[in-house]
Amino acid sequence: MTRTDEILFELPERHVRLREEAAALAASVAHLAAEADEADAIDPGMRAALAASGLAAVCVPAAYGGRYEHVDSLAVAVVREQLAAESAHLDSLFAMQGIGSYALTRGGTPEVRERWLPRVAALDAIAALGLTEPGIGSDLRGTATTITEDGGELVIDGHKSFITNGGDADFYCVLGKEDAGLSMVLVPADAPGLTTGRPHQIIAPHVLGDVVLDGVRVPRSHRLGEPGAGMRLGLATLATFRVSVAAAAVGTAQAALREAVAHTTGREQFGRPLIQLGAVAGQLARSWTEIEAARAFTYRAAAAASRDPLGSLHLSSMAKVAATETAGRVVDRCVQVMGRFGLVRGSKIERLYRAARPMRIYEGATEVILDSLARKLAKELSV
Ligand SMILES: Cc1cc2nc3c(=O)[nH]c(=O)nc-3n(C[C@H](O)[C@H](O)[C@H](O)COP(=O)(O)OP(=O)(O)OC[C@H]3O[C@@H](n4cnc5c(N)ncnc54)[C@H](O)[C@@H]3O)c2cc1C
Repeated sequence: MTRTDEILFELPERHVRLREEAAALAASVAHLAAEADEADAIDPGMRAALAASGLAAVCVPAAYGGRYEHVDSLAVAVVREQLAAESAHLDSLFAMQGIGSYALTRGGTPEVRERWLPRVAALDAIAALGLTEPGIGSDLRGTATTITEDGGELVIDGHKSFITNGGDADFYCVLGKEDAGLSMVLVPADAPGLTTGRPHQIIAPHVLGDVVLDGVRVPRSHRLGEPGAGMRLGLATLATFRVSVAAAAVGTAQAALREAVAHTTGREQFGRPLIQLGAVAGQLARSWTEIEAARAFTYRAAAAASRDPLGSLHLSSMAKVAATETAGRVVDRCVQVMGRFGLVRGSKIERLYRAARPMRIYEGATEVILDSLARKLAKELSV
């Protein structure tokens, strides 16, 4: 398929090389993807391959063993696009090393950063972010988990739910409330009082766990940022990583289109390849058009996020909505033009179809993002 990404947005040279590295990693684990994408625990083969590639270092700053001076949204996006096209499991494993550790990168004491971040970069330690609770999702203001100071330690009580890497992580950056507001604290997975379970699984299997914190005690040095800085750290994480969900969605949609084109050029009905039947051709061409639009905007928003994450959060949010909604439409059309072959369990197109669905919900559901964009729009237009 024509490479239009270079025509519409010229990636810096180092990102072009990075994309090649990520594509090579994805190709090297293609044989593991079907099994890993059905797993509810981290696949050891995927983990070993990602560790050997050194790509997890993209998620950590250079001062702590990372690849670049700062975590670079465009670099994360370029990698996720390639990995998601092959395996949602691999994409999540990569992305969570950044999403799960960024509050630590931004708010950790030098000693706690030094202890964990080099291990995150090398994939020796698995990171996780605990915001969601059984009763709390999009609106984190009602967080019920508590953090209390007691004798130079922090005591954490609560229940975090739907946590990616829950059960397999080595530490959790946990949001909880205290007098100063919502705060974030790093909790090692082996802290007494922390237990995990896997009560939920979703349509596109994911490493998901619930984490129960029952009187868990950590040293005060495990607080991330100031007391009350929890939402700021959460926002900083979104500002750097939300646009990478858009890139994963572009990769997913592109892979689905590739499957659909291969199928519809190879199969004939009514005396012609399917791709020459008007309705099929239209669906595929429309999908291609929408993918190119989503990719071009995603790269531009990611480049803006690399320069000024918070200042361009509205662009990252738009890219996330545009690309994930595009992926939802594209995978659906691709299944349709492949007929019954698009429905076969275990086929790549079926995996991509399921993988696209959760993207419209996590890291800001489409409607939640549109709601906050509308508020920004009203404010900007009224001045
Ligand atoms: C695969 C996966 C991985 C996840 N990983 C993590 C993780 O690692 N860490 C973590 O903390 N959480 C994680 N989550 C949870 C995720 O962050 C939440 O699912 C998400 O924040 C939405 O919350 P909710 O599901 O409770 O939906 P709710 O908040 O109950 O919202 C339900 C729906 O209501 C609508 N809605 C809600 N608010 C508004 C609004 N203001 N305006 C308009 N419409 C609205 C939207 O359509 C939304 O989808 C994960 C979820 C999934 C599916």
